[in-house]
Amino acid sequence: MAVALDSESKSIINATLQRFVADSYDFSARSQRLAEPLNYLQFWPVLADLGVLSLPLDEAQGGLGGHASDIADAAMTLAPGLILEPFTDAAVIGGSVLGSVGTSVQPHINRLINGEAFGVLLGGRGGDPGQLKVSRDGDGYRLDGELKVQPYASEADFWLIAAHDVEGCSQVVLFATPDEIDVPLHSYRLMDDRPACDLWFERVLLTDEALLLKGSEANQALKRARALAVCSLAAEAVGILASLVTATGEYLNERQQFGVPLSNFQALQHRLADMHIGYLEARALVDKLALAVEQSEDDEVRWLSYAVTSIIERSSRSIGHESIQMHGGMGVTDELVVSHFHKRLVVLVHQMRGWVEHDVEATEWRHEASLDAGGSVESDFDETAFRREVREFVATHLKPETRAKVQNGLYLEKSDYVDWQKALREKGWFGAAWPVEAGGKGWSILQEHVFLQECALGAAPMIIPYGVNMLGPVLYTFGNEEQKRRYLPGILNSDTWWCQGYSEPNAGSDLAALKTRAVRDGDFWVVNGTKMWTTEAQWADMMHCLVRTESTGKKQAGISFLLIDMNTPGITIEPIITLDGVHHTNQVFLDNVRVPVENLVGEEGAGWTMAKYLLSRERGFIADTGNKLRMMAQIRMSVSQRSKDFIGNRELQKARLLELEASLAALIELERSYINDWMRGRDDGIGASVLKVRSTELLQRMAEFWSDSLGPYGQCYDPALRLDGEGLSDSDPTVQAASVNYSYLYSRCWSIFGGTNEVQRNIIAARLLRN
Ligand SMILES: Cc1cc2nc3c(=O)[nH]c(=O)nc-3n(C[C@H](O)[C@H](O)[C@H](O)COP(=O)(O)OP(=O)(O)OC[C@H]3O[C@@H](n4cnc5c(N)ncnc54)[C@H](O)[C@@H]3O)c2cc1C
Repeated sequence: MAVALDSESKSIINATLQRFVADSYDFSARSQRLAEPLNYLQFWPVLADLGVLSLPLDEAQGGLGGHASDIADAAMTLAPGLILEPFTDAAVIGGSVLGSVGTSVQPHINRLINGEAFGVLLGGRGGDPGQLKVSRDGDGYRLDGELKVQPYASEADFWLIAAHDVEGCSQVVLFATPDEIDVPLHSYRLMDDRPACDLWFERVLLTDEALLLKGSEANQALKRARALAVCSLAAEAVGILASLVTATGEYLNERQQFGVPLSNFQALQHRLADMHIGYLEARALVDKLALAVEQSEDDEVRWLSYAVTSIIERSSRSIGHESIQMHGGMGVTDELVVSHFHKRLVVLVHQMRGWVEHDVEATEWRHEASLDAGGSVESDFDETAFRREVREFVATHLKPETRAKVQNGLYLEKSDYVDWQKALREKGWFGAAWPVEAGGKGWSILQEHVFLQECALGAAPMIIPYGVNMLGPVLYTFGNEEQKRRYLPGILNSDTWWCQGYSEPNAGSDLAALKTRAVRDGDFWVVNGTKMWTTEAQWADMMHCLVRTESTGKKQAGISFLLIDMNTPGITIEPIITLDGVHHTNQVFLDNVRVPVENLVGEEGAGWTMAKYLLSRERGFIADTGNKLRMMAQIRMSVSQRSKDFIGNRELQKARLLELEASLAALIELERSYINDWMRGRDDGIGASVLKVRSTELLQRMAEFWSDSLGPYGQCYDPALRLDGEGLSDSDPTVQAASVNYSYLYSRCWSIFGGTNEVQRNIIAARLLRN
């Protein structure tokens, strides 16, 4: 196994590559080069001097012994230059195959490393229909077959030829130079100006000496080459996606129409935000693939190669097209780099598809491997051991009837939540992210994340956030000693049920427009107004509430934070039934409600600061990947069980399922990279918004697919079946439909609460455009 370069070598290589791109691959110089007869190797010796041609080769072979992540870094750094030299084809794929052969090809390795010559691998793709057949012919080998669209084959000094035996069981890799064998070829340029050709092998004979690898050695070498190929191509695509997002943002800021920069238009801002999210998602998954390649986890690599290709396929097209569209007429010209980036992306996706195997099944994805990703910055936190401990606890302490309800998507009573929260408190795991002095354990965001993921995977009820995740942190940060003493224990023991009274009929996204008024009357605040969407207010003992205590001046400055006992006279709760037919939320009327003055948290007028603090703490966990993993497993099972009911195109159904699996794999990595950034103090302020948008929209796609997969039962929904504990058996399809279609209907709420997805896109775009 190769060893990752140390961080100093990595940054030296990356810095020199960046300089190389800036100095040698200026866009106009590149365009000039394209206008003349092309020498694809103009900068090949320079790349050799920079060390990148030897990245995949061992030190004993004269290489740098780089890790897959080093190759990915190099490809990503070179990407903005759109370099025309065959980095991936010759240095990564060719170099990797030569490295697997070893000393017998050392002279060719030396020529590659020194930038004097290069070879490419012909065939050997997992996803291409065309393959070469090999058979014994006397003492030598005979090759037959056709190969289509082989990049740089017409320019290469030598070929590494991968072929199957006639039965398709065993592979070989043979060596040949183009001038020693008579192979007709048809050369042309690809969309990205690079060369490729089709080749016809008919009774092509090679001697015994041509054999480089056979059997399992050939299989292993080709497997590694394929994995590195996908890694490198995907990383280049990610580098281009990043460049497109930057270039588009800059253009929107510069270009004026209607007397203002284009970046003033929200339609364009949101599309830029989506481009950015697509880029981050692809980047996170490439990092994961690189890690898996070096850990030689074959199944994981196979699956992740497929998933990365699927994600990049989607994001490349959309980001490439959007970038051109947002550059208007200029975007479709040859003069701007964006159209060239787009064309390169098209080629990269085609080539990735060629290298990945397409017969993957959704069931191949091993969730445990996905979760045990390592890379934690907390050296004293043993993530794997903690995961195991939580898993064990959930398995032994969650009441079986509660687990069954969660697993079957049935209605949960207040007591189901409270009992579970109390069990967690007894273990010391409820409010554990609070500081020790407030009654918690000071868990890091990573530990809390692992805990929540495992609870969800074990089908535990969600933790109700209004007390423990929202009010608690506000109180121990801004509350006075008496408030902490009085309220924190009730939150930690789940004896007090809190609800959140922020939104109002005319204050939703623009929360600061709230009108519920609190007027001082001696030792009381007298509150009048209406709160809207107050979730589970019907179960609540207390409400933390934003009220207006001042109507003049800046509207945010007149807001205060009050704690209101729900049994106070003057409070009326009216249920709001959501589209799933369930009573989750309420309208709360406050009519001359007298609240003791000591229930004001912080200073009068400081409510907005506290509300912002509270909401910022919540969004990091919105990705909720544990529940999505569990839901995906159920979807897979349901698809196979209900296959007889399904009406429609089965191939399309499989493709949709795989696409969802790939998106979930990407979300898991996106969440992990957010957590790592947070823990390293590198949070850019928009990571939580990115997660909120991606995760809620993925949940909605999953729920929609699940409902569709029920065939005709996709239209059945009787909420009473969900409420009825007797309906636990899933043998009745209408009971299953009640639960699945509940998920589908309720999923529409996710992109609305917690700050709508449009508002999140506003936040992301504002950061990207810095306006
Ligand atoms: C099931 C559910 C439970 C909830 N629970 C609670 C709770 O417990 N406590 C609580 O206080 N609140 C709760 N909410 C309220 C929730 O926070 C609000 O619904 C949300 O903030 C959106 O406000 P709104 O519904 O008034 O929509 P509006 O703000 O009126 O938005 C309507 C549409 O316009 C879009 N829009 C608004 N402003 C902009 C803009 N500047 N740019 C672009 N698009 C914009 C929105 O994205 C949305 O698509 C809950 C909501 C739901 C649906």
